[in-house]
Amino acid sequence: MAEFSLDLNEEQRDLRDWVHGFAAEVVRPAAAEWDAREETPWPVIQEAAKVGLYGFEFLATCWADPTGLSLPIASEELFWGDAGIGLSIFGTALAVAGIYGAGTPDQLVEWVPQCFGDVDSPAVAAFCTTEPEAGSDVGSMRTRAVYDQATDEWVLNGQKAYATNGGIAGVHVVTASVEPELGSRGQAAFVVPPGTPGLNATRKLRKLGLRASHTADVFLDDVRVPGRCLLGGKDALDERLARARSGQRASGQAAMRTFELSRPTVGAQALGVARAAYEYALDYAKDRVQFGRPIIANQAVAFALADMKMEIDAARLLVWRASWMGRNNRPFTAGEGSMSKLKAGEVAVSVTDKAVQLLGGAGFLRDHPVERWYRDAKIYTIFEGTSEIQRLVISRAISGMQIR
Ligand SMILES: Cc1cc2nc3c(=O)[nH]c(=O)nc-3n(C[C@H](O)[C@H](O)[C@H](O)COP(=O)(O)OP(=O)(O)OC[C@H]3O[C@@H](n4cnc5c(N)ncnc54)[C@H](O)[C@@H]3O)c2cc1C
Repeated sequence: MAEFSLDLNEEQRDLRDWVHGFAAEVVRPAAAEWDAREETPWPVIQEAAKVGLYGFEFLATCWADPTGLSLPIASEELFWGDAGIGLSIFGTALAVAGIYGAGTPDQLVEWVPQCFGDVDSPAVAAFCTTEPEAGSDVGSMRTRAVYDQATDEWVLNGQKAYATNGGIAGVHVVTASVEPELGSRGQAAFVVPPGTPGLNATRKLRKLGLRASHTADVFLDDVRVPGRCLLGGKDALDERLARARSGQRASGQAAMRTFELSRPTVGAQALGVARAAYEYALDYAKDRVQFGRPIIANQAVAFALADMKMEIDAARLLVWRASWMGRNNRPFTAGEGSMSKLKAGEVAVSVTDKAVQLLGGAGFLRDHPVERWYRDAKIYTIFEGTSEIQRLVISRAISGMQIR
């Protein structure tokens, strides 16, 4: 087990500085343009692929860090640059985490490279679990997967909502119900290979924030995928279903396993947005003069900045703790993964709100990026489990009761 230390080692410091450099030089200067265009920033993704920031090798290097801190460190820096572009670059990681969490080693080797495509023509991937009638209540999923023994294929039918990269992705990882009577325990995850007939996306959804990241509803109409696309394989699924039917504890549903892996990293993204807004507001407060002195000379302003800094640092500690625990197989006995995402998401919302306030009228204008950060921050109390759902997870963990 890796020792937990707040002293970053040399590799972690190098990683932080390298990603920060990319965020400062490539991502941030492009942020306003792609936010206004509301389009996937393919040239920036391509640039990220060229420098080695987009691809399985990069993710694998981060995952190999025994402290678990590399991915949150990289995420915070990239999203400090811009959350919309950041999600366009790191959104694929959610699908990869889905394959990693539920797939066999052979499936990892087959599908993960396809998630990223080539350096010269990168691809993105999507993880589709939310449905119009199944958001927080993942267990009520209606998308069905039926096995066709004659052809050794799975047939998927249903509708997925709000999928990041939905429709523009090559690989779509889709969760579906195999045995609806078993609720969430009857679900499984499937890879839908690039170009599979029957998978179609609606128009791109228009959003409050994260506008450079593509979001769409995805329709599955008699989508046939080969048997080997069932993540984890049929024997493992049959065994899991048999255990569930006989009332034994199952090891958890496919979508939930993916979210457990990704929540602290999503918290780190929120931290990046919060830190960007805090740093900008701090500089502004030192420069802006009213009543003959910089506005930071007023205790009300300085205290707001002190609180912003403290809250960001507190959230980072929770994110790093959960990342370390996850990497070192420490069970989340008090919902520590949820705590990290809950705190960081709420800090991002409150810090960006304060930053707009500290800039006054300027904060409300598109001339300053705090307006965009304020819009982008809100998603972090919503996706990958709303703040209320994180509180449910923590409440259940600390009480041992089925709090509703
Ligand atoms: C930009 C964006 C990108 C996304 N990307 C993806 C993606 O890539 N893949 C994917 O699968 N999904 C994705 N989502 C979906 C996202 O995860 C869901 O929107 C989220 O989980 C909430 O589900 P819902 O929207 O159906 O809200 P609902 O579940 O309808 O919730 C509505 C409100 O009710 C509250 N609520 C619900 N149940 C309870 C309860 N038991 N106790 C207390 N409060 C409760 C919620 O907290 C919330 O405030 C994305 C969403 C957005 C906006």
